[in-house]
Amino acid sequence: PKYVYSWGAGKADGNGKMKPLLGGKGANLAEMSRIGLPVPAGFTVTTEVCTHYYANGRKYPADLQRQMELGIAKVEKVMGVKFGDAKGFPLLVAVRSGARDSMPGMMDTILNLGLNDETVVALETATGNARFAWDCYRRFVQMYGDVVLGVQKRAGEDHEPFEVVIEEAKAEFLGNAHAEDTDLSADHLKEVIARFKTLVKDRTGHDFPSNPWDQLQGAMSAVFGSWMNDRANVYRRKYGIPAEWGTAVNVQAMVFGNTGSESGSGVAFTRDPATGEKVFYGEFLMNAQGEDVVAGVRTPYPVADLKKQQPASLKELERIRGVLEKHFTDMQDFEFTIQDHKVFMLQTRNGKRTGVAAVRIACEMVKEKLIDWKTAVSRVPADQLEQVLAPIFDAKAVKAADKIATGLPAGPGAATGKIYFNADRAVEANEKGQKVLLVRVETSPEDLRGMIAAEGILTARGGVSSHAALVARQMGKVCVCGAAALHVDYDKRTLKVGKTTYKEGDFLSIDGTAGTVYAGEVPTAPSEVVQGLIQGNKKAQKSGTYQNFVQLMAWCKKATKMVVRTNADTPEQTAQAVAFGAVGIGLTRTEHMFFEGERIDAMREMILSDSTEAREAALAKLLPFQRKDFLGIFKALNGFPATIRFLDPPLHEFLPHTKEQQLDLAKKLGIKVEVIMNRVAELHEFNPMLGFRGCRLGICYPEITRMQARAVIEAAVEAKKKGIKAKPEIMIPLVGFAKELEIQVAAVHAEAKAVMKETKTRVSYSVGTMIEIPRGALTADEVAETAEFFSFGTNDLTQTTLGMSRDDSGSFLAPYAENEILPKNPFASIDQTGVGQLMEIAITKGRQTRPNIKLGICGEHGGDPDSVKFCHKLGLAYVSCSPYRVPVARLAAAQAAL
Ligand code: ADP
Ligand code: MG
Ligand code: MG
Repeated sequence: PKYVYSWGAGKADGNGKMKPLLGGKGANLAEMSRIGLPVPAGFTVTTEVCTHYYANGRKYPADLQRQMELGIAKVEKVMGVKFGDAKGFPLLVAVRSGARDSMPGMMDTILNLGLNDETVVALETATGNARFAWDCYRRFVQMYGDVVLGVQKRAGEDHEPFEVVIEEAKAEFLGNAHAEDTDLSADHLKEVIARFKTLVKDRTGHDFPSNPWDQLQGAMSAVFGSWMNDRANVYRRKYGIPAEWGTAVNVQAMVFGNTGSESGSGVAFTRDPATGEKVFYGEFLMNAQGEDVVAGVRTPYPVADLKKQQPASLKELERIRGVLEKHFTDMQDFEFTIQDHKVFMLQTRNGKRTGVAAVRIACEMVKEKLIDWKTAVSRVPADQLEQVLAPIFDAKAVKAADKIATGLPAGPGAATGKIYFNADRAVEANEKGQKVLLVRVETSPEDLRGMIAAEGILTARGGVSSHAALVARQMGKVCVCGAAALHVDYDKRTLKVGKTTYKEGDFLSIDGTAGTVYAGEVPTAPSEVVQGLIQGNKKAQKSGTYQNFVQLMAWCKKATKMVVRTNADTPEQTAQAVAFGAVGIGLTRTEHMFFEGERIDAMREMILSDSTEAREAALAKLLPFQRKDFLGIFKALNGFPATIRFLDPPLHEFLPHTKEQQLDLAKKLGIKVEVIMNRVAELHEFNPMLGFRGCRLGICYPEITRMQARAVIEAAVEAKKKGIKAKPEIMIPLVGFAKELEIQVAAVHAEAKAVMKETKTRVSYSVGTMIEIPRGALTADEVAETAEFFSFGTNDLTQTTLGMSRDDSGSFLAPYAENEILPKNPFASIDQTGVGQLMEIAITKGRQTRPNIKLGICGEHGGDPDSVKFCHKLGLAYVSCSPYRVPVARLAAAQAAL
């Protein structure tokens, strides 16, 4: 079998499509060579050799040595030099690892391999450049000693041993331990190398290998060995890369960026990876080799500066930039070296980019006819699309800002404002026109008003699925949660971080894309997309960001099969989601409407009532509020359907829990505080998640269901009179038994009938259920007798299937991920094998009874790209997610359908 694939002089055995066999780096080196780009000759030892190596007790296939000798011979021929030549210019090689995808944790590259005490002299003679020759040798011994021979920092040592030798030499020869490497003369370097070799002998007990073939063997074994090192194993597990893939080894002729001031080394992107702008972007250093550019020891210059120093090289790089884009039809991230004014290409790959850049590049490449629209849709990572909607910090201001803490990036974007620790005070401040940040240890439904008033939310505790994070995402608010360095004192209204104390009203800024917290006011602006779509800002609509976004969404519409709805509780949220392309509401949580203003009082009165009559009287007060809310939502939807879920949470959530609040409420309602205390005690539950909630409330208090049905139907009637088409879909939560649904549906129909009779108006509506309990899924054929639609409530379905409470899972989810029990957070991305299987059962059984049953999903998972793709596969009609996730879900749904 063929183990060695050569390239060079405009030819190659392999090509860019052979990444599994040649690794990403090797495949693209072959491809670049084929298309005539200046690539130093070399060869790839395939990933199959890696697999063989591990399958056979770390031994190589018999024919490998012969093939490698042929490979070296070809390189020698192309380059006109000989490996190990002690007379003429010796061939030196780079040994470079290369898996399918670039993988941190793999072995570092070894440069200048082939040097020893004789060949270095030959190199010096051939080039007439002593400093250059000994600099190469110094680099080689150091890299090889470190990476292959393992001469590294030991426990208790503060610095790398080779670095210690260099610093001592600099102090001794130059009088400054931190002088630049380039200040060391050839003679200095000779002495450093001698000391390096002594170090190697002391540490390993062996002499530094001088035979180039031994060196090559050693380097290759080190690359293959690194495939199974701890760092690589951890990385592979995290990203699900199978060990069988193996890595390839690339052996390539060296070109030299360190021959002097006429040479250099750099990295570049064919477009700006941060903004996507079509400009040449990158940096370089003169008289530098390898990692000097990214190591941060010397500060590199922008590529444009080459114009002054080597205009011809810049022109050549510009030409290459064009060739690369045309050939690979994607933005490339590449590495180059200039040797005495000649440019060489050392690597290229598709460049990583921000969400903003991804959208811009995809759209512009379609315009440039480099790619078609389907490719454009498939290229933008769905998850990153949210970045295009997020408010933004001024980049310069961030650099200057004082970062005081980090937490989890829970709601992307930038926000700045005066800090408040209490929802009411935040609202008050906001009403006075202040920009506010709500800072809490963690948030609860009572903080909702404060969260609405705030630009951003910052919590000291809680994960990315905490209440704060969930609500923030739904509202498109910036949020950083779980910033453990924050010490919030509610009584003193202060926030302590380290030694600094911030008082209520002080400015802080948070970056919910990065999860960082800054002191003071860092300037921000809403994204142009939001300004254009939601605020109708004409200027923003002319911006490239806006137009590209709209274009991308139009393509998504063309491709998609499954549509996207939104989870929204207010007309504002609904209107936003519709602007983002939602075609209906998949979930309105009616209880969120009960927390605001006077409604919470009526709600509490209802809960405290001790008779049906008293409850009905209190409910009657809530009715007009609900009706108004629904009407507002119907208006915002303008003919799109709205799935309205009836009351779901346990009632105790609505009652005040501190003595002070209870006394307040008692006074307000004119009842004894003991009544409230007793009721709170009565409603106390050990497992509220599995307790008195969902349709269990409606079964015990049918008057609640009836009031809500009345509000929905009356609103629909009113809408009809105003010429607005309303399509309510009433959803009964937490159904596990067909009978539960039958009882609730009967109550809904009875009330609807009554309303239509009273108003002498007919409106249409449907009633269905949420599938969110395993029993409901398993008996879906029975449930479908009455349910006209199923909506998968995957939040609760995940909790009940896994037997894990989302709110309590923070303490063990991290070790569960580390131990690979859970590949992903199941509350963020659907557990496809477990929860997914229940969904499949429910779909199959539901369709047995009702072949055309409408199917959707309304859990938080509806905005997760992987889950969206899974829902497409299951054949759901729609997914539903928070407004700011709508574009993400639309993109994921389109990608699934391509
Ligand atoms: P990584 O995968 O970490 O980027 P590379 O194999 O690309 O590692 O090597 C790192 C650096 O070494 C390159 O960016 C380049 O500067 C230098 N390098 C690699 N191969 C050669 C070569 N043939 N000639 C000169 N420099 C090289
Ligand atoms: Mg590289
Ligand atoms: Mg639920």
